[in-house]
Amino acid sequence: MIRAGVTVSEQVKDKASGWSARLAKLGLRSDWDYLLHLPLRYEDETQLTPITRLRPGVDAQVEGEVIACEVTRRGRPQLVARLADASGELTLRFIHFYPSQQKQLHPGRRLRAYGQVRGGLLGVEMIHPRVHPVEAGEALPQQLTPIYPTTAGIPQAWLRKRIERALRDVRITDTLPPEVCARWKLPPLDAALHGLHHPPPDADAAALSEHRHPLWTRIKFDELLAQQLSLREARRARAQQTALPLPAQHAGLSARLLAALPFKLTGAQRRVWSEIEADLAAAQPMHRLLQGDVGSGKTVVAALAAARAIECGYQAALMAPTEILAEQHFRRVAQWLEPLGVQVAWLAGKLKPKDKRAAVAALAEGSAQLAVGTHALIQEGVALPRLALAIVDEQHRFGVLQRLRLREGGGDGAAAPHLLMLSATPIPRTLAMTYLADLDVSVIDELPPGRRPVRTKLIANARREEVLARVRADVARGRQCYWVCPLVEESDEVEATAATQMFEGTRAALPELRVGLLHGQLPPAEKTATMQRFAAGEIDVLVATTVIEVGVDVPNATLMVIEHAERFGLAQLHQLRGRVGRGAEQSVCVLLYEAPLSEAARERLRAIYETTDGFEIARRDLQLRGPGEFLGQRQAGAPLLRFADLELDAAWAEAARTAAVELAEHHPAAARAHVGRWLGARGALLAV
Ligand code: ADP
Ligand code: MG
Repeated sequence: MIRAGVTVSEQVKDKASGWSARLAKLGLRSDWDYLLHLPLRYEDETQLTPITRLRPGVDAQVEGEVIACEVTRRGRPQLVARLADASGELTLRFIHFYPSQQKQLHPGRRLRAYGQVRGGLLGVEMIHPRVHPVEAGEALPQQLTPIYPTTAGIPQAWLRKRIERALRDVRITDTLPPEVCARWKLPPLDAALHGLHHPPPDADAAALSEHRHPLWTRIKFDELLAQQLSLREARRARAQQTALPLPAQHAGLSARLLAALPFKLTGAQRRVWSEIEADLAAAQPMHRLLQGDVGSGKTVVAALAAARAIECGYQAALMAPTEILAEQHFRRVAQWLEPLGVQVAWLAGKLKPKDKRAAVAALAEGSAQLAVGTHALIQEGVALPRLALAIVDEQHRFGVLQRLRLREGGGDGAAAPHLLMLSATPIPRTLAMTYLADLDVSVIDELPPGRRPVRTKLIANARREEVLARVRADVARGRQCYWVCPLVEESDEVEATAATQMFEGTRAALPELRVGLLHGQLPPAEKTATMQRFAAGEIDVLVATTVIEVGVDVPNATLMVIEHAERFGLAQLHQLRGRVGRGAEQSVCVLLYEAPLSEAARERLRAIYETTDGFEIARRDLQLRGPGEFLGQRQAGAPLLRFADLELDAAWAEAARTAAVELAEHHPAAARAHVGRWLGARGALLAV
């Protein structure tokens, strides 16, 4: 359709600029982006199958003449055509279609159709085959047809032509020195790219589609190498920053805190503390992840680090992802440090303006040495002029940019703060080696003495009466219970409403017990009051949403009931279960589920039932979800791998790491060219 006053060429331009946003979304800007836009799979259009020889379930190509075509109007309109060759007839069915497709299928047209064959009511059919008109006797393609990843509105044919142009125009130089290619027996890049875009006629289509073909090895290796190189670069850039050295002071605050604690550190806690101490004493910023399963005692180690910064005359900040967790840290840390003369400032989003001003002023003038809070800490207007150490709990829940801002904010101008991140989410080795290779990691691999592993029970919702009886019995023995509401995805408001309903229901079912309610939409003061009453034992059963997922620590709570457990992710279930089993009493976690379970839900519940080991759970989570989701796209802070698979290609990740060292040291120009080619502008992201 040509609009009045607009020329055809203007319309074409219109279309191209309309596309540029979609192309950018596919990461397609430069010629190299197109060269590295590799096929998702391949289709074999080199053969024709006679219609009578078609077999259901198999992909095939047929050629014939359209003998009928109509739009059926029973229910949803469908475009249905009959195609005939010398041997028989086949139905082509389109459930979604454009009017132009109806023209293409006009009776009398000669077509080739490619698709999966299905046994239909009226003989064999293909649903949504790819069709194109042909002349009688037209030659068949001599090679497999690449099918490219694309997005709505960008046709395969256009992508194919554009990639063709890039293959023609770009001289594909190799960034890998010959000795690296030789050492790992890698084909030249030129051959790999041409071969993957234009597989040779005899190539194994399945091996190509499944990324098993040797040509793919080169691509995966290059991708992993680019990732390793940019991580090295980020590390190098950081090593050039300076930080305030924080050596131990004689009879300093950290030593006094250690002496005042009501318990002795475990061996693992002592070990990680000495690793952190060593980092803090250096003039380069620490960049360390402190990993330890739920309940392993990370907070006290963080408090020791804060005390070290304070004894050297500086400030520290401790940030947590939720208000409930931040507040709990504040209480606990204040309880430890205030008796030793430290002023701790509390900063949350919804403080009264007067209190907030007071806290901000105390931090600005330096009378408060420690700031504890939520995101409010990194918001404008909060200055920490003597900040030497930033501690971030459960940092993987923060966006990358927020982390960056915390590191840039405050400090002595030139000096970057030391950074300590705490996480209960164990990171599988392959991930640690790649996405997080930029971090040093300390692990607390031992629980405080006297802990007993939580017992997990899977109970169908139909048997919830038994669970209520168990709650009554536990409360009668002086214990407390969490009752976690089902996950509601729509919105926080909907979730809050659902939680309130559950609270009413639970109160009605357990009229003799003191039931409390906690969800994200409550006013902060009410959340705090409820949490305090639960901690003080004035609430028997706390009905809550996942706001209690991280960090909440009430050792007397020994029963955790999770409603509709099948809706939760594995990591979430592990975190929730970690809220109990914090004292010496045997704790129980009841997973209430609604049958029937999906396959994925069954696998998750099986995993959480079978093990309480956070590492094993993380490994299974990674298996079930893949690294992208495991870290969360936003949280990964790195573009995800497109071709390599960290689990399957772990050996290649190792090889790439070795090669990265070699390249960075002996071929720095090639290393830069390699990263530029693979990551382009995205390379910068990895530096976080
Ligand atoms: P997490 O690693 O999950 O953040 P916390 O720091 O909340 O764990 O510690 C869990 C509980 O264990 C807290 O009540 C804490 O005071 C206690 N705790 C920490 N270290 C020890 C220890 N060495 N001995 C006994 N109890 C400890
Ligand atoms: Mg914690």
